Amino acid sequence: MRLPDYHTHTARCGHAQGRPGDYVEAAQARGLLSIGIADHIPLLPEADPELSMDACELGDYVSEILALKERFPGYVLLGIEADYRPHTVSQVRSLLESQPFDYAIGSVHHLQAWGFDDPRQIDGYEHRDIDAAWIDYLELVGDAAESGLFTILGHLDLMKKFGYRPSRALDAELDRLVERIARAGMLVEINTAGLHKPVGEAYPTLDILRRLCAAGVAVTFGSDAHRPEEVGRDFAHAVDLARKAGYEEFASLVANPDGGRARVQSKPLEASAAGAGSHLATPSQPTGS
Ligand SMILES: [Zn+2]
Ligand SMILES: [Zn+2]
Repeated sequence: MRLPDYHTHTARCGHAQGRPGDYVEAAQARGLLSIGIADHIPLLPEADPELSMDACELGDYVSEILALKERFPGYVLLGIEADYRPHTVSQVRSLLESQPFDYAIGSVHHLQAWGFDDPRQIDGYEHRDIDAAWIDYLELVGDAAESGLFTILGHLDLMKKFGYRPSRALDAELDRLVERIARAGMLVEINTAGLHKPVGEAYPTLDILRRLCAAGVAVTFGSDAHRPEEVGRDFAHAVDLARKAGYEEFASLVANPDGGRARVQSKPLEASAAGAGSHLATPSQPTGS
């Protein structure tokens, strides 16, 4: 099956490897439908060279991906992953508006000053009420959905990364979040990177995907690759998850020739032939539009 991978990082992020061209090559070798490069936007309020490019590199990043877009028309998209943090919304908005991004992935990586998915800050879980942290987190993701800044919500339940899960099912909170996402018309990615983190499962969990599907929220795919060989990783598993959740279609992005954000196109989600394998097996025929 031909799927897109919209969540990939390159060496510019300071903690990933490979150049954008290597990622495009890997996507083609794997028979992906298309690829979006989504390096992390310059970190705010303070730069962190281990997490993202510096503000002065943004122009070079954009030029480099635009050159690839020209070389591979219809195949490469210019994306960006940006944080949703209440006190940096207006700065992020200006950065997003300053460049011709085809799409933006909106991610919550922080609760106030705490970078809860950063292995260097894992001790932050030790002296916290985990349920309260989850509730705050889900609220912020809902705010991100309603901010109008983003196209795709990234790794929706990232807070489970190190295995810290809520002690009870957060049904009311999740239903409220899903309703906010649906009303905002956001896309949600099935992000396979979680399979390789301590939690050992994709983001978001099947239970959340079922709620999203029932609410009519469209899904798409992201590997969160930090090396070219991780492009499209575990997408057969992601397709199985989507189908188990009830999805029969996925969202694909098509660059807007008039500029502005990409248009969303639905494509049929065929059953994966490979089951819960690792990479896409072989390129199958295009699914049309
Ligand atoms: Zn992220
Ligand atoms: Zn990422």
